[in-house]
Amino acid sequence: MNLLSSTNRDQALAQLSEKNYDLLVIGGGITGAGIALDAASRGLSVALIEKSDFAAGTSSKSTKLIHGGLRYLKQFEINLVREVGRERAIVHRLAPHLVTAEKMLLPLIKGGTYSGLATSVGLWVYDLLAGVKGEDKRRMLNKTETLKKEPLLREDILTGSGLYAEYRTDDARLTIEIIKTARQYGATCLNYVAAEDFVYDQNGKITAVRCLDRYSGQSLAIDAQYVVSAAGPWVDKLRKKDDSLRGKHLFLSKGVHIVVSRERLPIRQAVYFDVPDGRMVFAIPRLRATYIGTTDTPYEGDLNDIPINQEDVDYLLEAANNMFPSVNLTNDDVESSWAGLRPLIHEEGKSPSEMSRRDELFESETGLISIAGGKLTGYRKMAERVVDLVTQKFQQQNGKSLKANRTAQIPLTGGPFQNRKEIRELTAQVEQQLAGLGLEGDYAPYLIGNYGKQSREILDKMAAINAATPEEQLARAEAWYAIHHELALYPMDLLNRRTGRLYFNLPSIEPVMDAVIEDFKTTLNWDETRTKTARESVFAELRKASEFAKSETAHV
Ligand code: FAD
Repeated sequence: MNLLSSTNRDQALAQLSEKNYDLLVIGGGITGAGIALDAASRGLSVALIEKSDFAAGTSSKSTKLIHGGLRYLKQFEINLVREVGRERAIVHRLAPHLVTAEKMLLPLIKGGTYSGLATSVGLWVYDLLAGVKGEDKRRMLNKTETLKKEPLLREDILTGSGLYAEYRTDDARLTIEIIKTARQYGATCLNYVAAEDFVYDQNGKITAVRCLDRYSGQSLAIDAQYVVSAAGPWVDKLRKKDDSLRGKHLFLSKGVHIVVSRERLPIRQAVYFDVPDGRMVFAIPRLRATYIGTTDTPYEGDLNDIPINQEDVDYLLEAANNMFPSVNLTNDDVESSWAGLRPLIHEEGKSPSEMSRRDELFESETGLISIAGGKLTGYRKMAERVVDLVTQKFQQQNGKSLKANRTAQIPLTGGPFQNRKEIRELTAQVEQQLAGLGLEGDYAPYLIGNYGKQSREILDKMAAINAATPEEQLARAEAWYAIHHELALYPMDLLNRRTGRLYFNLPSIEPVMDAVIEDFKTTLNWDETRTKTARESVFAELRKASEFAKSETAHV
């Protein structure tokens, strides 16, 4: 049964209600996805539920770097930097089309965060901790070399730069590929199912979770021997429901990114640069766009609707204009934006920027295991810690032995690829095929970066679709693929988290929107009311990404 097709949702729901799972994971962000894959590949029967779409929480709103976090070195978080630094190469190997090497340029400026010597030593240590070798090791550049690499940089305060290795990804696609890989190992994963309450036995231990299918309105209970909450910023809400919110708790920090067209900020590679207030932000090119971020401000508002204020946008525009003075970005240049919440572990007296990015496990007397904090980059190690704990308990209680963690050897769907050459060759083939279908430009790297080898299925489908334009033909083929193979249930699941169009190619949405909505309607048998709601929600998300309100929020 293809349980990755939204047309088989009823069967997935029936399975969730009927089976007694070894493990139920609440939360379909990168952490929950990683746990589901690790646990299923060790031999546990696993269910995963997500109250919204997969990756709709923080895991589609990050800076989208698979990185060691240079700034954590300054905070002496040596273990964190070592662990996530080493994870970079592993995650790249598991999905090399989706996690790609990206050189980062760190300009040195008069009075900036890092001096030349500190940067040189810092980057050396960074490489050493992460095990970076050969040509990828950091290089220090003088002012002339730096300007040659990046002519847009502000010349008057520039003294040189450090050039070092990082990786770039798409956080939402990475989450979805992990979910799909977990499915290959038998996990039942379903979006739009919210955990509402826990069911306890007479000893006060959780035996099931009461849920709501937000699509049909139907209630269900999912039986499981172990329950892990990987609910990111919502972790404390579930701990509260479990009456176990004691001791350490979460502190939420908001991070905003804005997107401009590459034409308006045509940087040649990613830059990590100083902001006059002492913070640092990234500017990262991605095909036709460049994105800038992030902010870091305390947040106590609605977790399901995080506002982006004009002040957030002004802060990032000013930061970019300060470092790239010739471009003069204005509000009108901002095509799109997103805001995410960092689920940090609260530390008294520290600002959001100073708080640790380490993860933390909470185990309640009822058996609820919660995990929060951490980084996108470290998802595999976080999952390993959780699943080690679960398997230890499982083996003790059930007397069965399970396999050890082996997710470092499980390529994610979309691959596997032998090497970069194979990816280049596939990109060239796809480019040719697309040209035959009338599409030129960035579409081949877009498809390969998003779907890897799965692009072929989309192209085959595209050739069979009649549409007004090749752009519409492609969008409809992607819609077909997302509905049938990636559990997309609403148009925005496709336009945001399956394709990244909402953020990185917002202007491409309007011309294809009607056709895409129509395909969701016919494939999923929607009535007029559901279709109208879906259409309104597309408009609402388009507005949210591109229109900003004033507020009183401070910025750092
Ligand atoms: P989430 O992605 O938030 O997932 C939790 C999920 O649980 C949500 O989808 C939510 O809908 C679901 N859920 C909640 N309650 C329920 C319920 N009752 N029932 C069912 N489901 C529920 N890390 C990096 O490594 N690199 C970066 O470049 C980077 N940049 C960042 C920039 C910003 C601005 C932010 C905010 C974070 C950044 N991070 C980065 C950190 C990284 O994004 C997070 O650590 C990671 O995405 C957290 O994933 P998660 O799965 O724990 O949480």
